[in-house]
Amino acid sequence: MQSVMQFIVSVFTAASLHSADLPPAGLPLPHPVPGGVALVDLGNGTEAPQATFNGKAVMVRKDATQNHWQAVVGIPLKQAPGEAFVAAGGQHYPFAIRDKAYPEQHLTVKNKHVNPNEEQLNRIRSEFARMGKVYTSFTDGQPWQPMMWPAEGPLSSAFGLKRFFNGEQRNPHSGLDIAAPAGSNIRAPSAGTVVLTGDFYFNGNSVFLDHGHGLISMFCHMQGITVQEGDQVQAGDLLGTVGATGRATGPHLHWTVSLNNARINPLLMLAHPGEAEFSQRFTATAGAEHE
Ligand SMILES: [Zn+2]
Repeated sequence: MQSVMQFIVSVFTAASLHSADLPPAGLPLPHPVPGGVALVDLGNGTEAPQATFNGKAVMVRKDATQNHWQAVVGIPLKQAPGEAFVAAGGQHYPFAIRDKAYPEQHLTVKNKHVNPNEEQLNRIRSEFARMGKVYTSFTDGQPWQPMMWPAEGPLSSAFGLKRFFNGEQRNPHSGLDIAAPAGSNIRAPSAGTVVLTGDFYFNGNSVFLDHGHGLISMFCHMQGITVQEGDQVQAGDLLGTVGATGRATGPHLHWTVSLNNARINPLLMLAHPGEAEFSQRFTATAGAEHE
């Protein structure tokens, strides 16, 4: 068992640059793949530069160890691997996006949510517009903080899976599923503002938190919601309970994390990696990724 853990830890260490002595303030973990996060050095100017990636504003912060400005860039799952750049102050700062092959997942869903009718499509379009407004917002907010787990339970579906519903390819899994029992607590993973709540066609009862600087969390399939739009929450505050509303095959929390409108792997933002996270990262890394 010990050797297995050592192997997992060594894989984990190889996947991140400074994980051995990384302070919590050093998060998120750099993982420049589609669905990951790139940390791009922007130099040591006196003022925080305004930076963009794909024309969208990105989070900028001071790197504690080098005292340089650093862009924290969410990379969309659909981004092509290869050379990319952050634009700031009229300059281009290049970085490399590595390839990553996410595994496939085939699901059989025996309900109305697979092929919606025209009325349902109209509802879905209006919901996408409301969600898009949240995902593309960029607020000052509070200083960004590493995240805690929003629910207790095993991880039942990894981030990034290529999904097939009843044999038809659909959008990849853009969040992380935590198999917690119905009625168990969902807590804010870090401080933020409740910017949207509602009952959504696919996602069921959902809460959106704006953590500031383009970092947004979404919690789906909830049984009950105990917060309201406009509420300010701290890490650990109750948001509601786990359920199976919307397109869900059973009770679980689907947690999406979005950075500069790119859905990224929530594991990269967690402050205290647990064993489940190590094994999850191990599964996602082994044989599926190359430099
Ligand atoms: Zn999910």
